[in-house]
Amino acid sequence: MTQNTDRNEQLFERAKQLIPGGVNSPVRAFRAVGGTPRFVARAQGAYFWDANGKRHIDYIGSWGPMILGHGHPAVVEAVQKAVLEGFSYGAPTEREVELAEEIVSLVPSIEMVRLVSSGTEAAMSAIRLARGATGRSKLIKFEGCYHGHADALLVKAGSGLATFGNPTSAGVPPEVVQHTLVLEYNNLAQLEEAFVLHGADLACLIIEPIAGNMNFVRASVPFMKRCRELCTQHGALLVFDEVMTGFRVALGGAQSIYAKSIPGFKPDLSVLGKVIGGGMPLAAFGGPRSVMEQLAPLGPVYQAGTLSGNPVATACGLATLKQIRKAGFFDALALRTRTLVDGLKAAAAEQSVPLSADCEGGMFGFFLLPQLPQNYPQVMKSDGARFNQLFHGLLDRGIYIAPALYEAGFVSAAHSDADLAETIAAAKEVFRTMPALS
Ligand SMILES: *Cc1c(COP(=O)(O)O)cnc(C)c1O
Repeated sequence: MTQNTDRNEQLFERAKQLIPGGVNSPVRAFRAVGGTPRFVARAQGAYFWDANGKRHIDYIGSWGPMILGHGHPAVVEAVQKAVLEGFSYGAPTEREVELAEEIVSLVPSIEMVRLVSSGTEAAMSAIRLARGATGRSKLIKFEGCYHGHADALLVKAGSGLATFGNPTSAGVPPEVVQHTLVLEYNNLAQLEEAFVLHGADLACLIIEPIAGNMNFVRASVPFMKRCRELCTQHGALLVFDEVMTGFRVALGGAQSIYAKSIPGFKPDLSVLGKVIGGGMPLAAFGGPRSVMEQLAPLGPVYQAGTLSGNPVATACGLATLKQIRKAGFFDALALRTRTLVDGLKAAAAEQSVPLSADCEGGMFGFFLLPQLPQNYPQVMKSDGARFNQLFHGLLDRGIYIAPALYEAGFVSAAHSDADLAETIAAAKEVFRTMPALS
């Protein structure tokens, strides 16, 4: 009998005995693509090294937070200093005020902000606040958008627009999602109809403005404009879930991009996470003073957290924001991302592999489809077999992309031209083996 010397496999076997599926968040288990997850031993810059010591170019970057790459020296220094001052106090600190000032100055729609520890918590709290502030219960979300795993948001469309959603997870009682209406992304006719039917009862509409949980699908400008108009007209709050896009697609988030095409455009509430913590558990939600003052201890909407505004996490987030707000940061990042996306498109075209791709700032997505999809059913038509072949082909060559075709990718400031060229060359090799698939 030969001894298995693959450390990733050994660790996965051990993990599966103790942790459901061997992972602490499901997509990490590689169920969609098959194979053994890579256990990360350490990371630096654009790379991580797995348990076998193999180097990978990392296009997940903790699913978005690592916009500077891993272990940026200024961030490491800030975190080390903070750790020596204490891990957590459960009392207010100056850094929370500094981070709030930073967020308010970078995102004009936010006048007041509350810090929490995860995107799930932030989205859940923003919805409670929207309901409390409007005195209404119903909300709209869109199929394919992810807003964390709070009960009311784990929901799929019911049988028609008059009926509300059905749970997508066991353990969520149907009553808990009976106020959540699920619409198709970018579908103007459905949006209009939903507001005609339910406008007076809607607390909010929550949307990922660029849906990274459908890989990369933009809400069209006319669609977004209509979301804004209908919310205003019916007294519902427009909630932008920018957990992924915030400080990632642009310094001011996706809302700053829509504001360029729609004069005066602003969401009511914004939900932030990922980049804002620079890799530490930190998220936030914010909006106009009048709405935010409905939160406890000022107002009747309860919300709290033992580790909220954690001093180490705020140090990490502040140090990260300080780097990305430097002049030219986003232009340079966007150029890198564009280079990768254009390179992948050209490599696919050379082999007649149908591939469409899009990007903004340091976020990108590609589909094994001839045209960019506009909604979830179209995203799901992306060729799963070819995606798996591409995923494993890249992984074998030391390039790590998300292990599911509906997840976005991320480029960091640490990805060099050589890293991008290596990635494109590897993709070209894999595409070359593809025409055989039909
Ligand atoms: C990641 C994500 C969340 C959830 O954040 P967690 O920190 O994983 O709870 C919510 N909304 C969007 C758009 C996300 O990408």
